[in-house]
Amino acid sequence: MQVPPFSLSAQIETLGSELDAAVLEVVRSGQYIGGPAIGRFESAFAASLDVAHAVGCNSGTDALILGLRALGIGPGDEVITSSFSFFATAEAISAVGARPVFVDVDPTTYLMDLERVEAAITPATRALMPVHLFGRAVPMDRLCSLARRRGLRVIEDCAQASGARWDGRAVGTWGDVGCFSFFPTKNLGAAGDGGAVTCSDPELARSVRELAVHGMPRRYLHTRLGYNSRLDTVQAAVLNVKLPRLRQWLQQRRAVALRYLDALRDIPNLTLPDPGDSGHSWNQFVVRVRATPDLIDRLPSAGDAAGSIAARCRDWLQQQLRDAGINTIIYYPIPIHLQPAYSGLGLERGCLPVTELLTDEVLSLPMFPELTAEQQQAVCDSLRRILSDAMAGVRS
Ligand SMILES: *Cc1c(COP(=O)(O)O)cnc(C)c1O
Repeated sequence: MQVPPFSLSAQIETLGSELDAAVLEVVRSGQYIGGPAIGRFESAFAASLDVAHAVGCNSGTDALILGLRALGIGPGDEVITSSFSFFATAEAISAVGARPVFVDVDPTTYLMDLERVEAAITPATRALMPVHLFGRAVPMDRLCSLARRRGLRVIEDCAQASGARWDGRAVGTWGDVGCFSFFPTKNLGAAGDGGAVTCSDPELARSVRELAVHGMPRRYLHTRLGYNSRLDTVQAAVLNVKLPRLRQWLQQRRAVALRYLDALRDIPNLTLPDPGDSGHSWNQFVVRVRATPDLIDRLPSAGDAAGSIAARCRDWLQQQLRDAGINTIIYYPIPIHLQPAYSGLGLERGCLPVTELLTDEVLSLPMFPELTAEQQQAVCDSLRRILSDAMAGVRS
C-alpha cells in the first residue's frame, strides 16, 4: 500500500460539482479582481473565528508582511520569534526591514519558549511573533500579558493553525493581528496561494487593506508604498466552498492524531507529540526519532555520511518507510537561523540547542482528514516492524 504524506484528491472528490460550479461562476462572471466572493469569504472567515475583521491577501507570507507593516514595524526594530518554523516567518520580518530575533523552543510543545522571550527583549524590540507550529496553539494568555507588560505588539503566525484554539478562543484573535495561509496543504487550503490578516481594530484592518492594494485608500491616491497582494477571486470562491467543512475536517484530523497516539505509544525510539488540549488543530503529526545505540548500529557505515547521528537515524527511518510505501516529510530539516540566507546574523550552530535537535529528529507522518484507518494501520505497522527489526538486529 502506498500512503502519501498528504492528499488533496479525496477532498476534491467530496466537494465535486460544488467546487466546479464555484470556480466556473467566477470564470464566467469576468470579474477576476474583487467581486462578491471575496467579501463573502472575509465575513465568513471572521465570523468563524469570532473576530471583527478579516482581510484577504495573496499568501500567508504576505499576511505576515502586511500585519507587520500595518503595525508600523520596520528598520531598526526587532521582532522575537521562533527559528523552528517555515522560513517565511523570519523572511517576513526581514522583508519589512526589521530584524528577527530567535528564541529557543520548548522541547515538549516545539513552540516558542516564553521563559526565554523576556530575556531576549532589548530596547529595540517592538513585537513578538508566536508561531502556532503544526497546528498547536502557543499559550496566548501568557504571551499577551507579557507583551502588554513590556509594551510589545503581537503578530500571530497562524499559517498552520486555521481552527486552532487556546483556552477556547481561536488563534488569530489574541494578538494585534493574526496571519493565516491558505496554501493548499494547510488546514484550510485554497487551489493556489491565499492568505488573510485578522484583527479587531478597524483602523488596523483598513491599513492592511490599503497596503494590500498599493497603499491606496482611494482610487489612484497612494499614501504610502504598499503591495499588490489581493486575495484572488477564484481562490475566494474555492475557500467559500471549503470553509463550512473546516470544522469537520478538524475533527477528522483530531481522530487521526488520537489513533496515532494510541497505536504508537510504546514503540521504541519514537517520541510522540504532546497532544495538548482539544484546541490543537493537527496540521501535522510530528514524531521525534531518538538515536539510541541499536538504531545507530543500523546505519550504513559512517564514512562519507553527512549530518549528525540523530539526523542520520531519522533519515534512515524515513528511507525504510519510503521503501515500505509510507511517505513522510521533514518539517523542517534546517532551522531558520542556520539557513544560508541568514548567515549575516552570525548565529552559530549550538545557539538554539532544542531547535537544532528537533530539526535533526522530527518526522511528519501522513496526516490529512481523509487518511483511512487501513492507511493509518499500514503506517503504524511499518513503523513498528522497522524499529523492532532494528532492535532485534542488535541482539542477534
Ligand atoms: C505556510 C507558512 C507560511 C507562509 O504561508 P504561504 O501562504 O505559503 O506564504 C508562514 N508561516 C508558516 C509557519 C507556514 O507554515
